[in-house]
Amino acid sequence: TEFFYYFPYFCAMPKEFQFQVSPEAAANEDLLVKKVAQFCKIGASDIQKVVVLKRSIDARQKSIKINLKGKAFLVGEEYTDSKIELPDYPNVENKQEVIVVGAGPAGLFAALQLIELGLKPIVLERGKEVRGRRRDLKAINVDGIVNEDSNYCFGEGGAGTYSDGKLYTRSKKRGDIDRILELFVGFGATPDIMVEAHPHIGTNKLPQIIQDIREKIIACGGIVLFGTRVTDFVLKNNQIEGVVLQNGTIITAQKVILATGHSARDIFELLYKKNILIEAKPFALGVRAEHPQSLIDKIQYSCDYRGEFLPPAPYSMVKQVNGRGIYSFCMCPGGVIAPCATSPGEVVTNGWSPSKRDQATANSGIVVELKLEDFKPYQQYGPLAGMEFQKAIEQKAWQLAGETQKVPAQRMVDFTQNKISTNIPKTSYVPGTTSIEMGQVFPGFLTQIMREGFLQFEKSMKGYLTNDAILHAPESRTSSPVRIPRDDFSLEHLQIKGLYPCGEGAGYAGGIISAAIDGEKCALKVAESLK
Ligand code: FAD
Repeated sequence: TEFFYYFPYFCAMPKEFQFQVSPEAAANEDLLVKKVAQFCKIGASDIQKVVVLKRSIDARQKSIKINLKGKAFLVGEEYTDSKIELPDYPNVENKQEVIVVGAGPAGLFAALQLIELGLKPIVLERGKEVRGRRRDLKAINVDGIVNEDSNYCFGEGGAGTYSDGKLYTRSKKRGDIDRILELFVGFGATPDIMVEAHPHIGTNKLPQIIQDIREKIIACGGIVLFGTRVTDFVLKNNQIEGVVLQNGTIITAQKVILATGHSARDIFELLYKKNILIEAKPFALGVRAEHPQSLIDKIQYSCDYRGEFLPPAPYSMVKQVNGRGIYSFCMCPGGVIAPCATSPGEVVTNGWSPSKRDQATANSGIVVELKLEDFKPYQQYGPLAGMEFQKAIEQKAWQLAGETQKVPAQRMVDFTQNKISTNIPKTSYVPGTTSIEMGQVFPGFLTQIMREGFLQFEKSMKGYLTNDAILHAPESRTSSPVRIPRDDFSLEHLQIKGLYPCGEGAGYAGGIISAAIDGEKCALKVAESLK
């Protein structure tokens, strides 16, 4: 009787599966159902619904496979399409105010978390709202004009908005990552990001999500102000009491989350000037390489044409040269190289891609790990030495390429052979390129490591080292050159009570997901301290 009692219940459990299929079968529902039926030893007509929980590409073999993990619900079993809902955000209009400086992923997710915890965020963002930013992106691309408050790094959504929107991180805390991914889905991202091993959103989809986050914050009684650059802190006996805006307005609050990103040099300078503890932090620096996407597909998928069922191939590379790591960074399949300067008189590259990653080129930062000792020539700047090292390279590149937003460029093989390229073809970098021997842009030790690095990359990815690949310089904003130290437990600044250094700019995140996680963490600590 016991068996019969449990048997129906046992039957009602969906069948779990985990196997590899061809890219075509993974993309075609009917083929997938057949494959699941075969695997579970049931009839295809017995299957009501196949739900894929994890999907990744296995390109190690000659014939590429898709790893799938999921559940099959049989006909008659209870199955409901579970839609991810946003948390029940309360109205916080009359609650205690907390200032959040910066509306990047760290600031926005901090604001949402504050609302969840019953606090009222006042978000101050130096840049424009997400759509208004577009005009300034056009100005930098087409006319070479850099707006210091509105560019690829500054403005609503922060540096992550007009990006590739890659949503993976080296952090191992699956729970924290899933929570952020769920919020993205709740705000309109495709639920596929919960399934893919390497999810991404794309530049065309991110702005609407960012706008919806802002509208939610405002609907709950929070405040979001644009064109409000913070230029000073109001301090009394090492306690923060508010911030001063560029127009002189003072906004007061006992708690300030400082999430200004890795490019807010004026904030680092302000902290230093006010004798508020900051530290130089190693980061990485190098070039952005662009290959034809078809070439990367050919190398990664070992085939002449990737076909219609595989996505444009990514790549990831790490090597050691002279005791330092040289690695690919923020690789954008089917993407475009963007001018990411935040001040006139400098050039900076980074990459973005649309959600379909359908551009003909693949780009990636190829960067070398820096050490604090590399900043010695700038030691008179104290903790800002790394920032000055970074700035000097960006300014030199600007000068060498003709004092516009054009960047120094060189063909990859020519670079390894220390030879100026006789011509540079048109690349995805809209402001254009100037043919330069890259060794002029970087200190000698960096050039040497990069030259050797490319030779080593070729050993792992045959065909990677080619003159069809164009290097653009520099890729310099990989992470913050400064750390704003905070207490490990309270997350408050080591000297200033009520100040919460947060996200990438403070040195506690690298990328959209980890910045968002750090934003939430800071908001939680603010709420705890107010209890
Ligand atoms: P930020 O996003 O830098 O936000 C800081 C905000 O503070 C900005 O909006 C800025 O305007 C504002 N601010 C600065 N100073 C002040 C001030 N004084 N007063 C008021 N406001 C101020 N990461 C990924 O994970 N995946 C990717 O695919 C990816 N692609 C990228 C592509 C590009 C082109 C760029 C530039 C970056 C990319 N990144 C990517 C990196 C990612 O965007 C950052 O890691 C992330 O945005 C950091 O978040 P944050 O909130 O800490 O800082």
